[in-house]
Amino acid sequence: MCSIIGYASSEQVTSTLLKGLKKMEYRGYDSAGIAVASNNQLLVQKEIGRVKDLEQKLDLKYTTGHAGIGHTRWATHGGVSKINAHPHMCNDESIGVVHNGIIENYDELKNKLIARGYSFKSKTDTEIIPNLLSYHFNQTNDIKQSIIKTVYELKGNYSFIALIRNETMVAVKHHEPLILGIENDGKGYVLASDILGFTEKTEDIIDMDNNQFAIILSNGFKMYDFKGNTSSYLISKLPQKHKEVNKENFEHFTLKEINEQPATIVSTGNENEQTIDAFTKSIRKKENIVITGSGTSYYAGLMARYLFPMFINNAINVIKSSEMKFSEHFLNPSSILVAISQSGESADVLEAISIAKNRGLSITSVVNVMRSTLAKESDYAIGLNCGSEIGVAATKSFTSQLAIFYKIADKLSEGKIGLNFNEISQAMSKIIKEDDKVKKISKELKNVHDIYVLGRGIHYPIAMEGALKIKEITYIHAEGMSAGELKHGPLALMDKSAFVIILNPEGDTYQDNLSSIHEIKARGAKIIGISNKNNENYDYFIEIPKISEILYPLIEVIPLQQLAYYTSLEKGLDPDYPRNLAKCVTVK
Ligand code: GLU
Repeated sequence: MCSIIGYASSEQVTSTLLKGLKKMEYRGYDSAGIAVASNNQLLVQKEIGRVKDLEQKLDLKYTTGHAGIGHTRWATHGGVSKINAHPHMCNDESIGVVHNGIIENYDELKNKLIARGYSFKSKTDTEIIPNLLSYHFNQTNDIKQSIIKTVYELKGNYSFIALIRNETMVAVKHHEPLILGIENDGKGYVLASDILGFTEKTEDIIDMDNNQFAIILSNGFKMYDFKGNTSSYLISKLPQKHKEVNKENFEHFTLKEINEQPATIVSTGNENEQTIDAFTKSIRKKENIVITGSGTSYYAGLMARYLFPMFINNAINVIKSSEMKFSEHFLNPSSILVAISQSGESADVLEAISIAKNRGLSITSVVNVMRSTLAKESDYAIGLNCGSEIGVAATKSFTSQLAIFYKIADKLSEGKIGLNFNEISQAMSKIIKEDDKVKKISKELKNVHDIYVLGRGIHYPIAMEGALKIKEITYIHAEGMSAGELKHGPLALMDKSAFVIILNPEGDTYQDNLSSIHEIKARGAKIIGISNKNNENYDYFIEIPKISEILYPLIEVIPLQQLAYYTSLEKGLDPDYPRNLAKCVTVK
């Protein structure tokens, strides 16, 4: 979670730090801070809230300095407060640190440092890093040795940037993202958690390896491994299409990304057709398929669980990544593991693949960020190719994940599915354009406390995903469930105050759904039907175009995304930055 940035340049660094932080803010945004080296001292300012809050309160003296670091936080240790915000300083204020991740043994290290006379201001795990660096620097008088000794003591997954008051910057990567960018005049160096944080002048980038650190001075940098050996690195070009991501004419990234789906659904996976082919062939040779992901990605995996068995006989298990270590018995070398993640940096998913690798499984990932750790650590990576997704609630990446599984299912079915993404794209456009109904219903939903989203069969994963969208950005309690389960318990919750959304396009599940609708109506709850066909029992009807039955999941999720989005607006919330969440869940 969180974003870290560092910048050393012949120009003033503050505005660039703030600009970079704003672009990476979707990674975590409960507080923000910067530190700039100026006249052999570190000037630090931090604030609760967003980068714009920090910017507004920034003192003018912070505009001078040629090396600086910055952070947007997603608190793991210590509440959201100014004192817990980063950067954190060592006791003599000569070193400041911004940190992403968790130092698992911070308590033990903190006690050690306290015994050596150090004191602590914050409740974070982070604050031990600058103090440990300072302790080792006082012992060795050598920055490189201090880093080696510090990382030797740290446990957990982390990346951090340390700024020393003499303008030296240190970047350390251990299982959390960190990229070094070099500006085109060769004079500026940028460190960022993600490529969106880079300056316009950044052309070359180095994806740092795990257990690597860089020491950056104004005239160059050196890269080392954790033992202190000079380390090699690969320079690549910053992908142009990811350089600038903005809202264009949309009010929010979430709305922009919902609206992009008619285009992204067509481009999905196009750059990886061969990998999709190879993967489809390899499935036929394996007995079991284990699919893993978290949140939205898990629901995309559930869809594969419904689609693939229509055409193959392999056993398919879908396991939440955070549950993988308790489900190892599903993993054996005759299985293939499919790991799904938008960012490719989700700590739970990375842990799941490492468990599977240890058991000898081959890993195929379905991932949006092809330079991510997940993509790199997979035997095969299938890219979503849907462009950067900034809204914390996944939208276009979900339909692209589904599209990949539909492509695979289509190949397994030898074309029987009749997949035509242009047709789907047109249906999506129609739903997106005709959003008056959704907007009206959102006005009602804003006052509701409980929403249930029902679907049977292939519609069940979409019901789960729809409920997740509602929870994430409206903060209304929402539950997705298979409609048939209603009478086995949840029916007890139905009363006049409840709203039930039912995914009910014509097809196999239609009649059974009508029975559920009657059961719900008899208890007074309101029904929102999403279907190609109206029914007198719906209190509200959201029409979707008629398409082939098996393909409805690809389009019926859109009204659910829209309902969540517009209800969030009705409640006066910011759908792009839901409370307590962050886009890239890099901690356990
Ligand atoms: N563990 C650190 C904290 O709670 C860093 C969290 C983050 O990655 O934002 O401050």
